Amino acid sequence: MIGTPRLRFSEHIWVDEADHLRVEETDAVELTRRFGTPLFVVSEAQIRANVARYQAAFRRGYPDTEIYFSTKANFNPAVRRVFTLAGAGGDAFGLGELTINLMTGTPPAMIVLNGSNKAEPEIRLAVEHGVAVHVDHPEELETVARIAGDLGRVARVAPRTRLMLHELDAMEADLPAGAQVGPGARVGNKFGMHWEDTLAVCRRAVDDPRLRLVGLHHHVGRWNHDPAIFAAVVREQVVWAARLRDELDGWTAEYLDFGGGFATPRAEGLGPFGNDRDAPPIETYADVLTGVLRDELDRHGLPHPRLIVEPGRAIASDIAVLLGSVGIVKRFLDERTWVSLDVSQNLVVNTLTMAYHYHAVVADRVTASPAPPVDLVGPLCSFDFLGQDRSLPPVARGDVVALLDTGAYCESKSLQFNALPRPATVLVSGSTVDVITERETIADVIGRMRVPDRLNV
Ligand code: PLP
Repeated sequence: MIGTPRLRFSEHIWVDEADHLRVEETDAVELTRRFGTPLFVVSEAQIRANVARYQAAFRRGYPDTEIYFSTKANFNPAVRRVFTLAGAGGDAFGLGELTINLMTGTPPAMIVLNGSNKAEPEIRLAVEHGVAVHVDHPEELETVARIAGDLGRVARVAPRTRLMLHELDAMEADLPAGAQVGPGARVGNKFGMHWEDTLAVCRRAVDDPRLRLVGLHHHVGRWNHDPAIFAAVVREQVVWAARLRDELDGWTAEYLDFGGGFATPRAEGLGPFGNDRDAPPIETYADVLTGVLRDELDRHGLPHPRLIVEPGRAIASDIAVLLGSVGIVKRFLDERTWVSLDVSQNLVVNTLTMAYHYHAVVADRVTASPAPPVDLVGPLCSFDFLGQDRSLPPVARGDVVALLDTGAYCESKSLQFNALPRPATVLVSGSTVDVITERETIADVIGRMRVPDRLNV
């Protein structure tokens, strides 16, 4: 480490004595001089620290826990590789994410395949490697069994359950605004199977030699950051596990997988409407989840299976920052100030779809006194709000602004609206910096598009 940190945003993303933002040992502004902007900067040490922290948080209450990184949050193969080296398994959604998990050496026994309409190639690849398939429909089980028969393999399967969650009927979601968690979870989404289909799938799986029923999966998703959601999910999932034991001749699960959906706190604001400024730390989620799990398993006389959780957002947000350069600064009738960055909502899509808040700082004077609030905007032909009413020190062309917590669902959801090339990503490890995503060019953006010859006469 260099000097004494003035402030830490996470263990490895911090502010030095000169008030500069650093990712591990590297100075954010220097990175932009070397690699240009916009630029995603990922900290390898932060990934490792997060995996260790999540493992410790869950294992202190439930020793047999595995953390499976939800690959959709950041499917960059180098990022996935660091998660794998740190000991995280993987939640893979679709052929692409499954391929990335396998190519980065994630042990197949620590990968699960999720999806509501899986295609045969992904099921085949999963069965070939012994990856567990989380079955989302009875029809899918038939496909898995057929493919397993063709391959001469036994497919590991686990149903994705659609719990009723009446305990959460009156709980309000912050997103979608005005929704209630219970009804939203049981009717407002396409995933999982209700009890009758789950039972039918399980019965079929235990009777078929091509299939091995290994567990149960439920991902409740993000409704707000209240850990009580997980308590309700665990309680009902264990009831289902006990009913399955009774219906299926004493069958018990090798694992219970409770998906992701945890939030991570950021005092300066994060998440929908910035609400995760008040989110509990992962240790609180882990204590609630593991405490209820132990109690409920014991109450139902069930053995303690492996616990799997699939965090995405919570474990990967603070591994990266997104750096942009200030361009035009426009003052409008002496009322508002618009600070244009070369970062756009193409790179922080959750600002559009989930009213997401990312905290912004000026990279070479992070804690300097603020000027009157400004609106941060990108270059797109849309409002392209990156942050409104933000308190920043006065900025001018060429200054570097960092959006924090942009390690999850930013690169992986990025778009090319306005034919805008997507940025580079670098991985920092101490003072070592490697490009892990090349900067896109306009030729890349239009490279797959064709003008038919007949139009060129
Ligand atoms: N697991 C499953 C099955 C998911 O669908 C998702 C997100 O959609 C996750 C895990 C990760 O969720 P989050 O990023 O909220 O932790």
